[in-house]
Amino acid sequence: MTAFVFNEINFDHHEQVVFASEEKSGLKAIIAVHNTNLGPAMGGCRMWNYASEAEAVRDVLRLSRGMTYKNAVAGLPIGGGKSVIIGNPKTDKTPALFEALGEALERLGGRYVTAEDVGTSPADMAYVAGKTKYVAGLGDRGDPSPFTALGCFVGAQAAVKHQLGRDDMDGLVVALQGLGHVGFDYARRLKEAGAKLIVSDIDEGALKRAKDELGAEVVGTDAIYDVAADIYAPCALGATVNPDTLKRLKAKIIAGAANNQLSTPDMGIACRNQGILYAPDFVINAGGIIKVCYEYLNTPEDGMDAHVRRIGETLAEVFARADAEGLPTSVIADRVAEAKFKR
Ligand code: NAD
Repeated sequence: MTAFVFNEINFDHHEQVVFASEEKSGLKAIIAVHNTNLGPAMGGCRMWNYASEAEAVRDVLRLSRGMTYKNAVAGLPIGGGKSVIIGNPKTDKTPALFEALGEALERLGGRYVTAEDVGTSPADMAYVAGKTKYVAGLGDRGDPSPFTALGCFVGAQAAVKHQLGRDDMDGLVVALQGLGHVGFDYARRLKEAGAKLIVSDIDEGALKRAKDELGAEVVGTDAIYDVAADIYAPCALGATVNPDTLKRLKAKIIAGAANNQLSTPDMGIACRNQGILYAPDFVINAGGIIKVCYEYLNTPEDGMDAHVRRIGETLAEVFARADAEGLPTSVIADRVAEAKFKR
């Protein structure tokens, strides 16, 4: 048999990779604990119809590593992990499946704490919680998205200050892709700060709301890359910063909530060479995990808003260091994280 964990390209000395199964519910899950130097590994549980087991391994290795970096830069006392359930989230979900996952987490004794992610919901996590306490973000204390939006907004402010030397957003044009849980709230904050919005979405209802409530101009899903804007704010899909879109973007700042915005790591260099300031995704979109972590650890929430706002200061430091060292912001952000969690 070909070994596919230690040889996998996304393997990064993960502390533990656990294959969990249960016969009755049909659970097939993989739990990856990337690093626990700063605390228990935290990261969501993704349910996806993976074409193969190898694809699921690749995903969980990549995602769990990303959580270590995100949690470390955000200054949280937690490590990075992730889990994936192999199955179709539309047809294969049962309470027993998530209870079995809860039992698997219980066996890990708290080294990994899960939460909802793509393909899973707070309702699914409630079944997990029936079997273990190692689950966060049950939805009973509110949606983390507004905190992600706040982090994006203060991140955009830091980017505007660095790139344009301005303390305000008056009249700046933002091309915002994706008016979902995060995107709409982020758009509202930008509008309140005086920015002009050009938006795209595949959801007509969201577009109408943005037009009516925020005075946004609507463009097609592909046209968003061509509009004259100061900021491009990707809040829908990954990999939208790629060789094709970089040729078309007019914005000098990229500041949005989407995960994995760069199609490949060398897009960080391409942004720098093109004079575009890229706010690294895992730094700017950490508001949600900050909220979830505060809830899970029962940290008094009076300091939470200030914690999320520190995303702006962290980004300002990343931008300044990138200039001083002549390196992409994405590389500097990785180094900031590594300085915190690597021993
Ligand atoms: P969401 O599903 O609520 O919103 C996504 C929006 O994008 C929807 O309105 C959808 O219609 C739209 N969309 C889909 N395809 C599109 C396309 N081709 N062009 C334009 N719009 C399109 O998701 P969300 O919770 O708002 O998260 C947005 C992004 O931010 C995701 O990439 C997510 O992984 C990331 N993120 C979210 C959080 C959070 O707290 N929710 C935290 C960190 C990162």
